Amino acid sequence: MAGFAIRLVGVQHAYGATDDVGEVTALEQIDLSIPSGSFAVLMGPSGSGKSTLLNLIGAVDRPSSGSVFLDDTDIARASERELTLLRRSDIGFVFQFFNLIPTLSVEENIGFPLALAGSSRERITSRTREVLRQIGLEPREKHYPNQLSGGEMQRVAIGRAVVHRPRLILADEPTGNLDSRTGEQILDLLRAVHEAHESTIVMATHSERAASYGDLIIDVIDGTAAPRIAGT
Ligand code: ADP
Ligand code: MG
Repeated sequence: MAGFAIRLVGVQHAYGATDDVGEVTALEQIDLSIPSGSFAVLMGPSGSGKSTLLNLIGAVDRPSSGSVFLDDTDIARASERELTLLRRSDIGFVFQFFNLIPTLSVEENIGFPLALAGSSRERITSRTREVLRQIGLEPREKHYPNQLSGGEMQRVAIGRAVVHRPRLILADEPTGNLDSRTGEQILDLLRAVHEAHESTIVMATHSERAASYGDLIIDVIDGTAAPRIAGT
């Protein structure tokens, strides 16, 4: 199935005040379109609102106001249950610090989203094998996360993010914790899985070099987002 087309209309987001901190406006008035099948990059400095945007697009959080469409569904108006099902079936996340489950082996980490969704043992085994081949980690299938390098951990995290063939892959600073050479290998792998699955990918980064892997760059500055015109 083709990747989601993403459209944000009048999106604002504020984090509520607590006893200790006042309200923070993280995003103001975002209007944005990301076509199905793109490799889009949210580019901006720390604190500009990239993770907030990814969480809204990934149905982790709901905007304070405005609409977030994945194809024709406004996820700002979906129920919690609908959002949970959507995340499980159609979205894969990759994080800066990998977020693998330390007590599960490489193959168990990769198969985890399928197990969570109630897939059959046969499907979990066959998809896990396929993904292990794709990320080049078959020799490490029985290893645990603490027996892997950072680059290998991120490969596993990418495998886990795509094992259920999601229509949308979200990556939040996926190379932020890796040396530049390993980072480039991870970006190559992200591009390869994106092309193999025809999914839409949205990656947040503060690195121009990482951003150059995308085909649509969106500059995120102080809670605003603007697509960059090619060549500027
Ligand atoms: P980035 O990912 O670009 O570094 P974030 O989206 O994480 O930016 O943060 C945007 C702004 O929102 C920042 O000013 C940050 O301090 C604030 N923020 C992020 N998460 C929270 C939260 N849970 N509660 C309050 N403020 C937050
Ligand atoms: Mg962030």
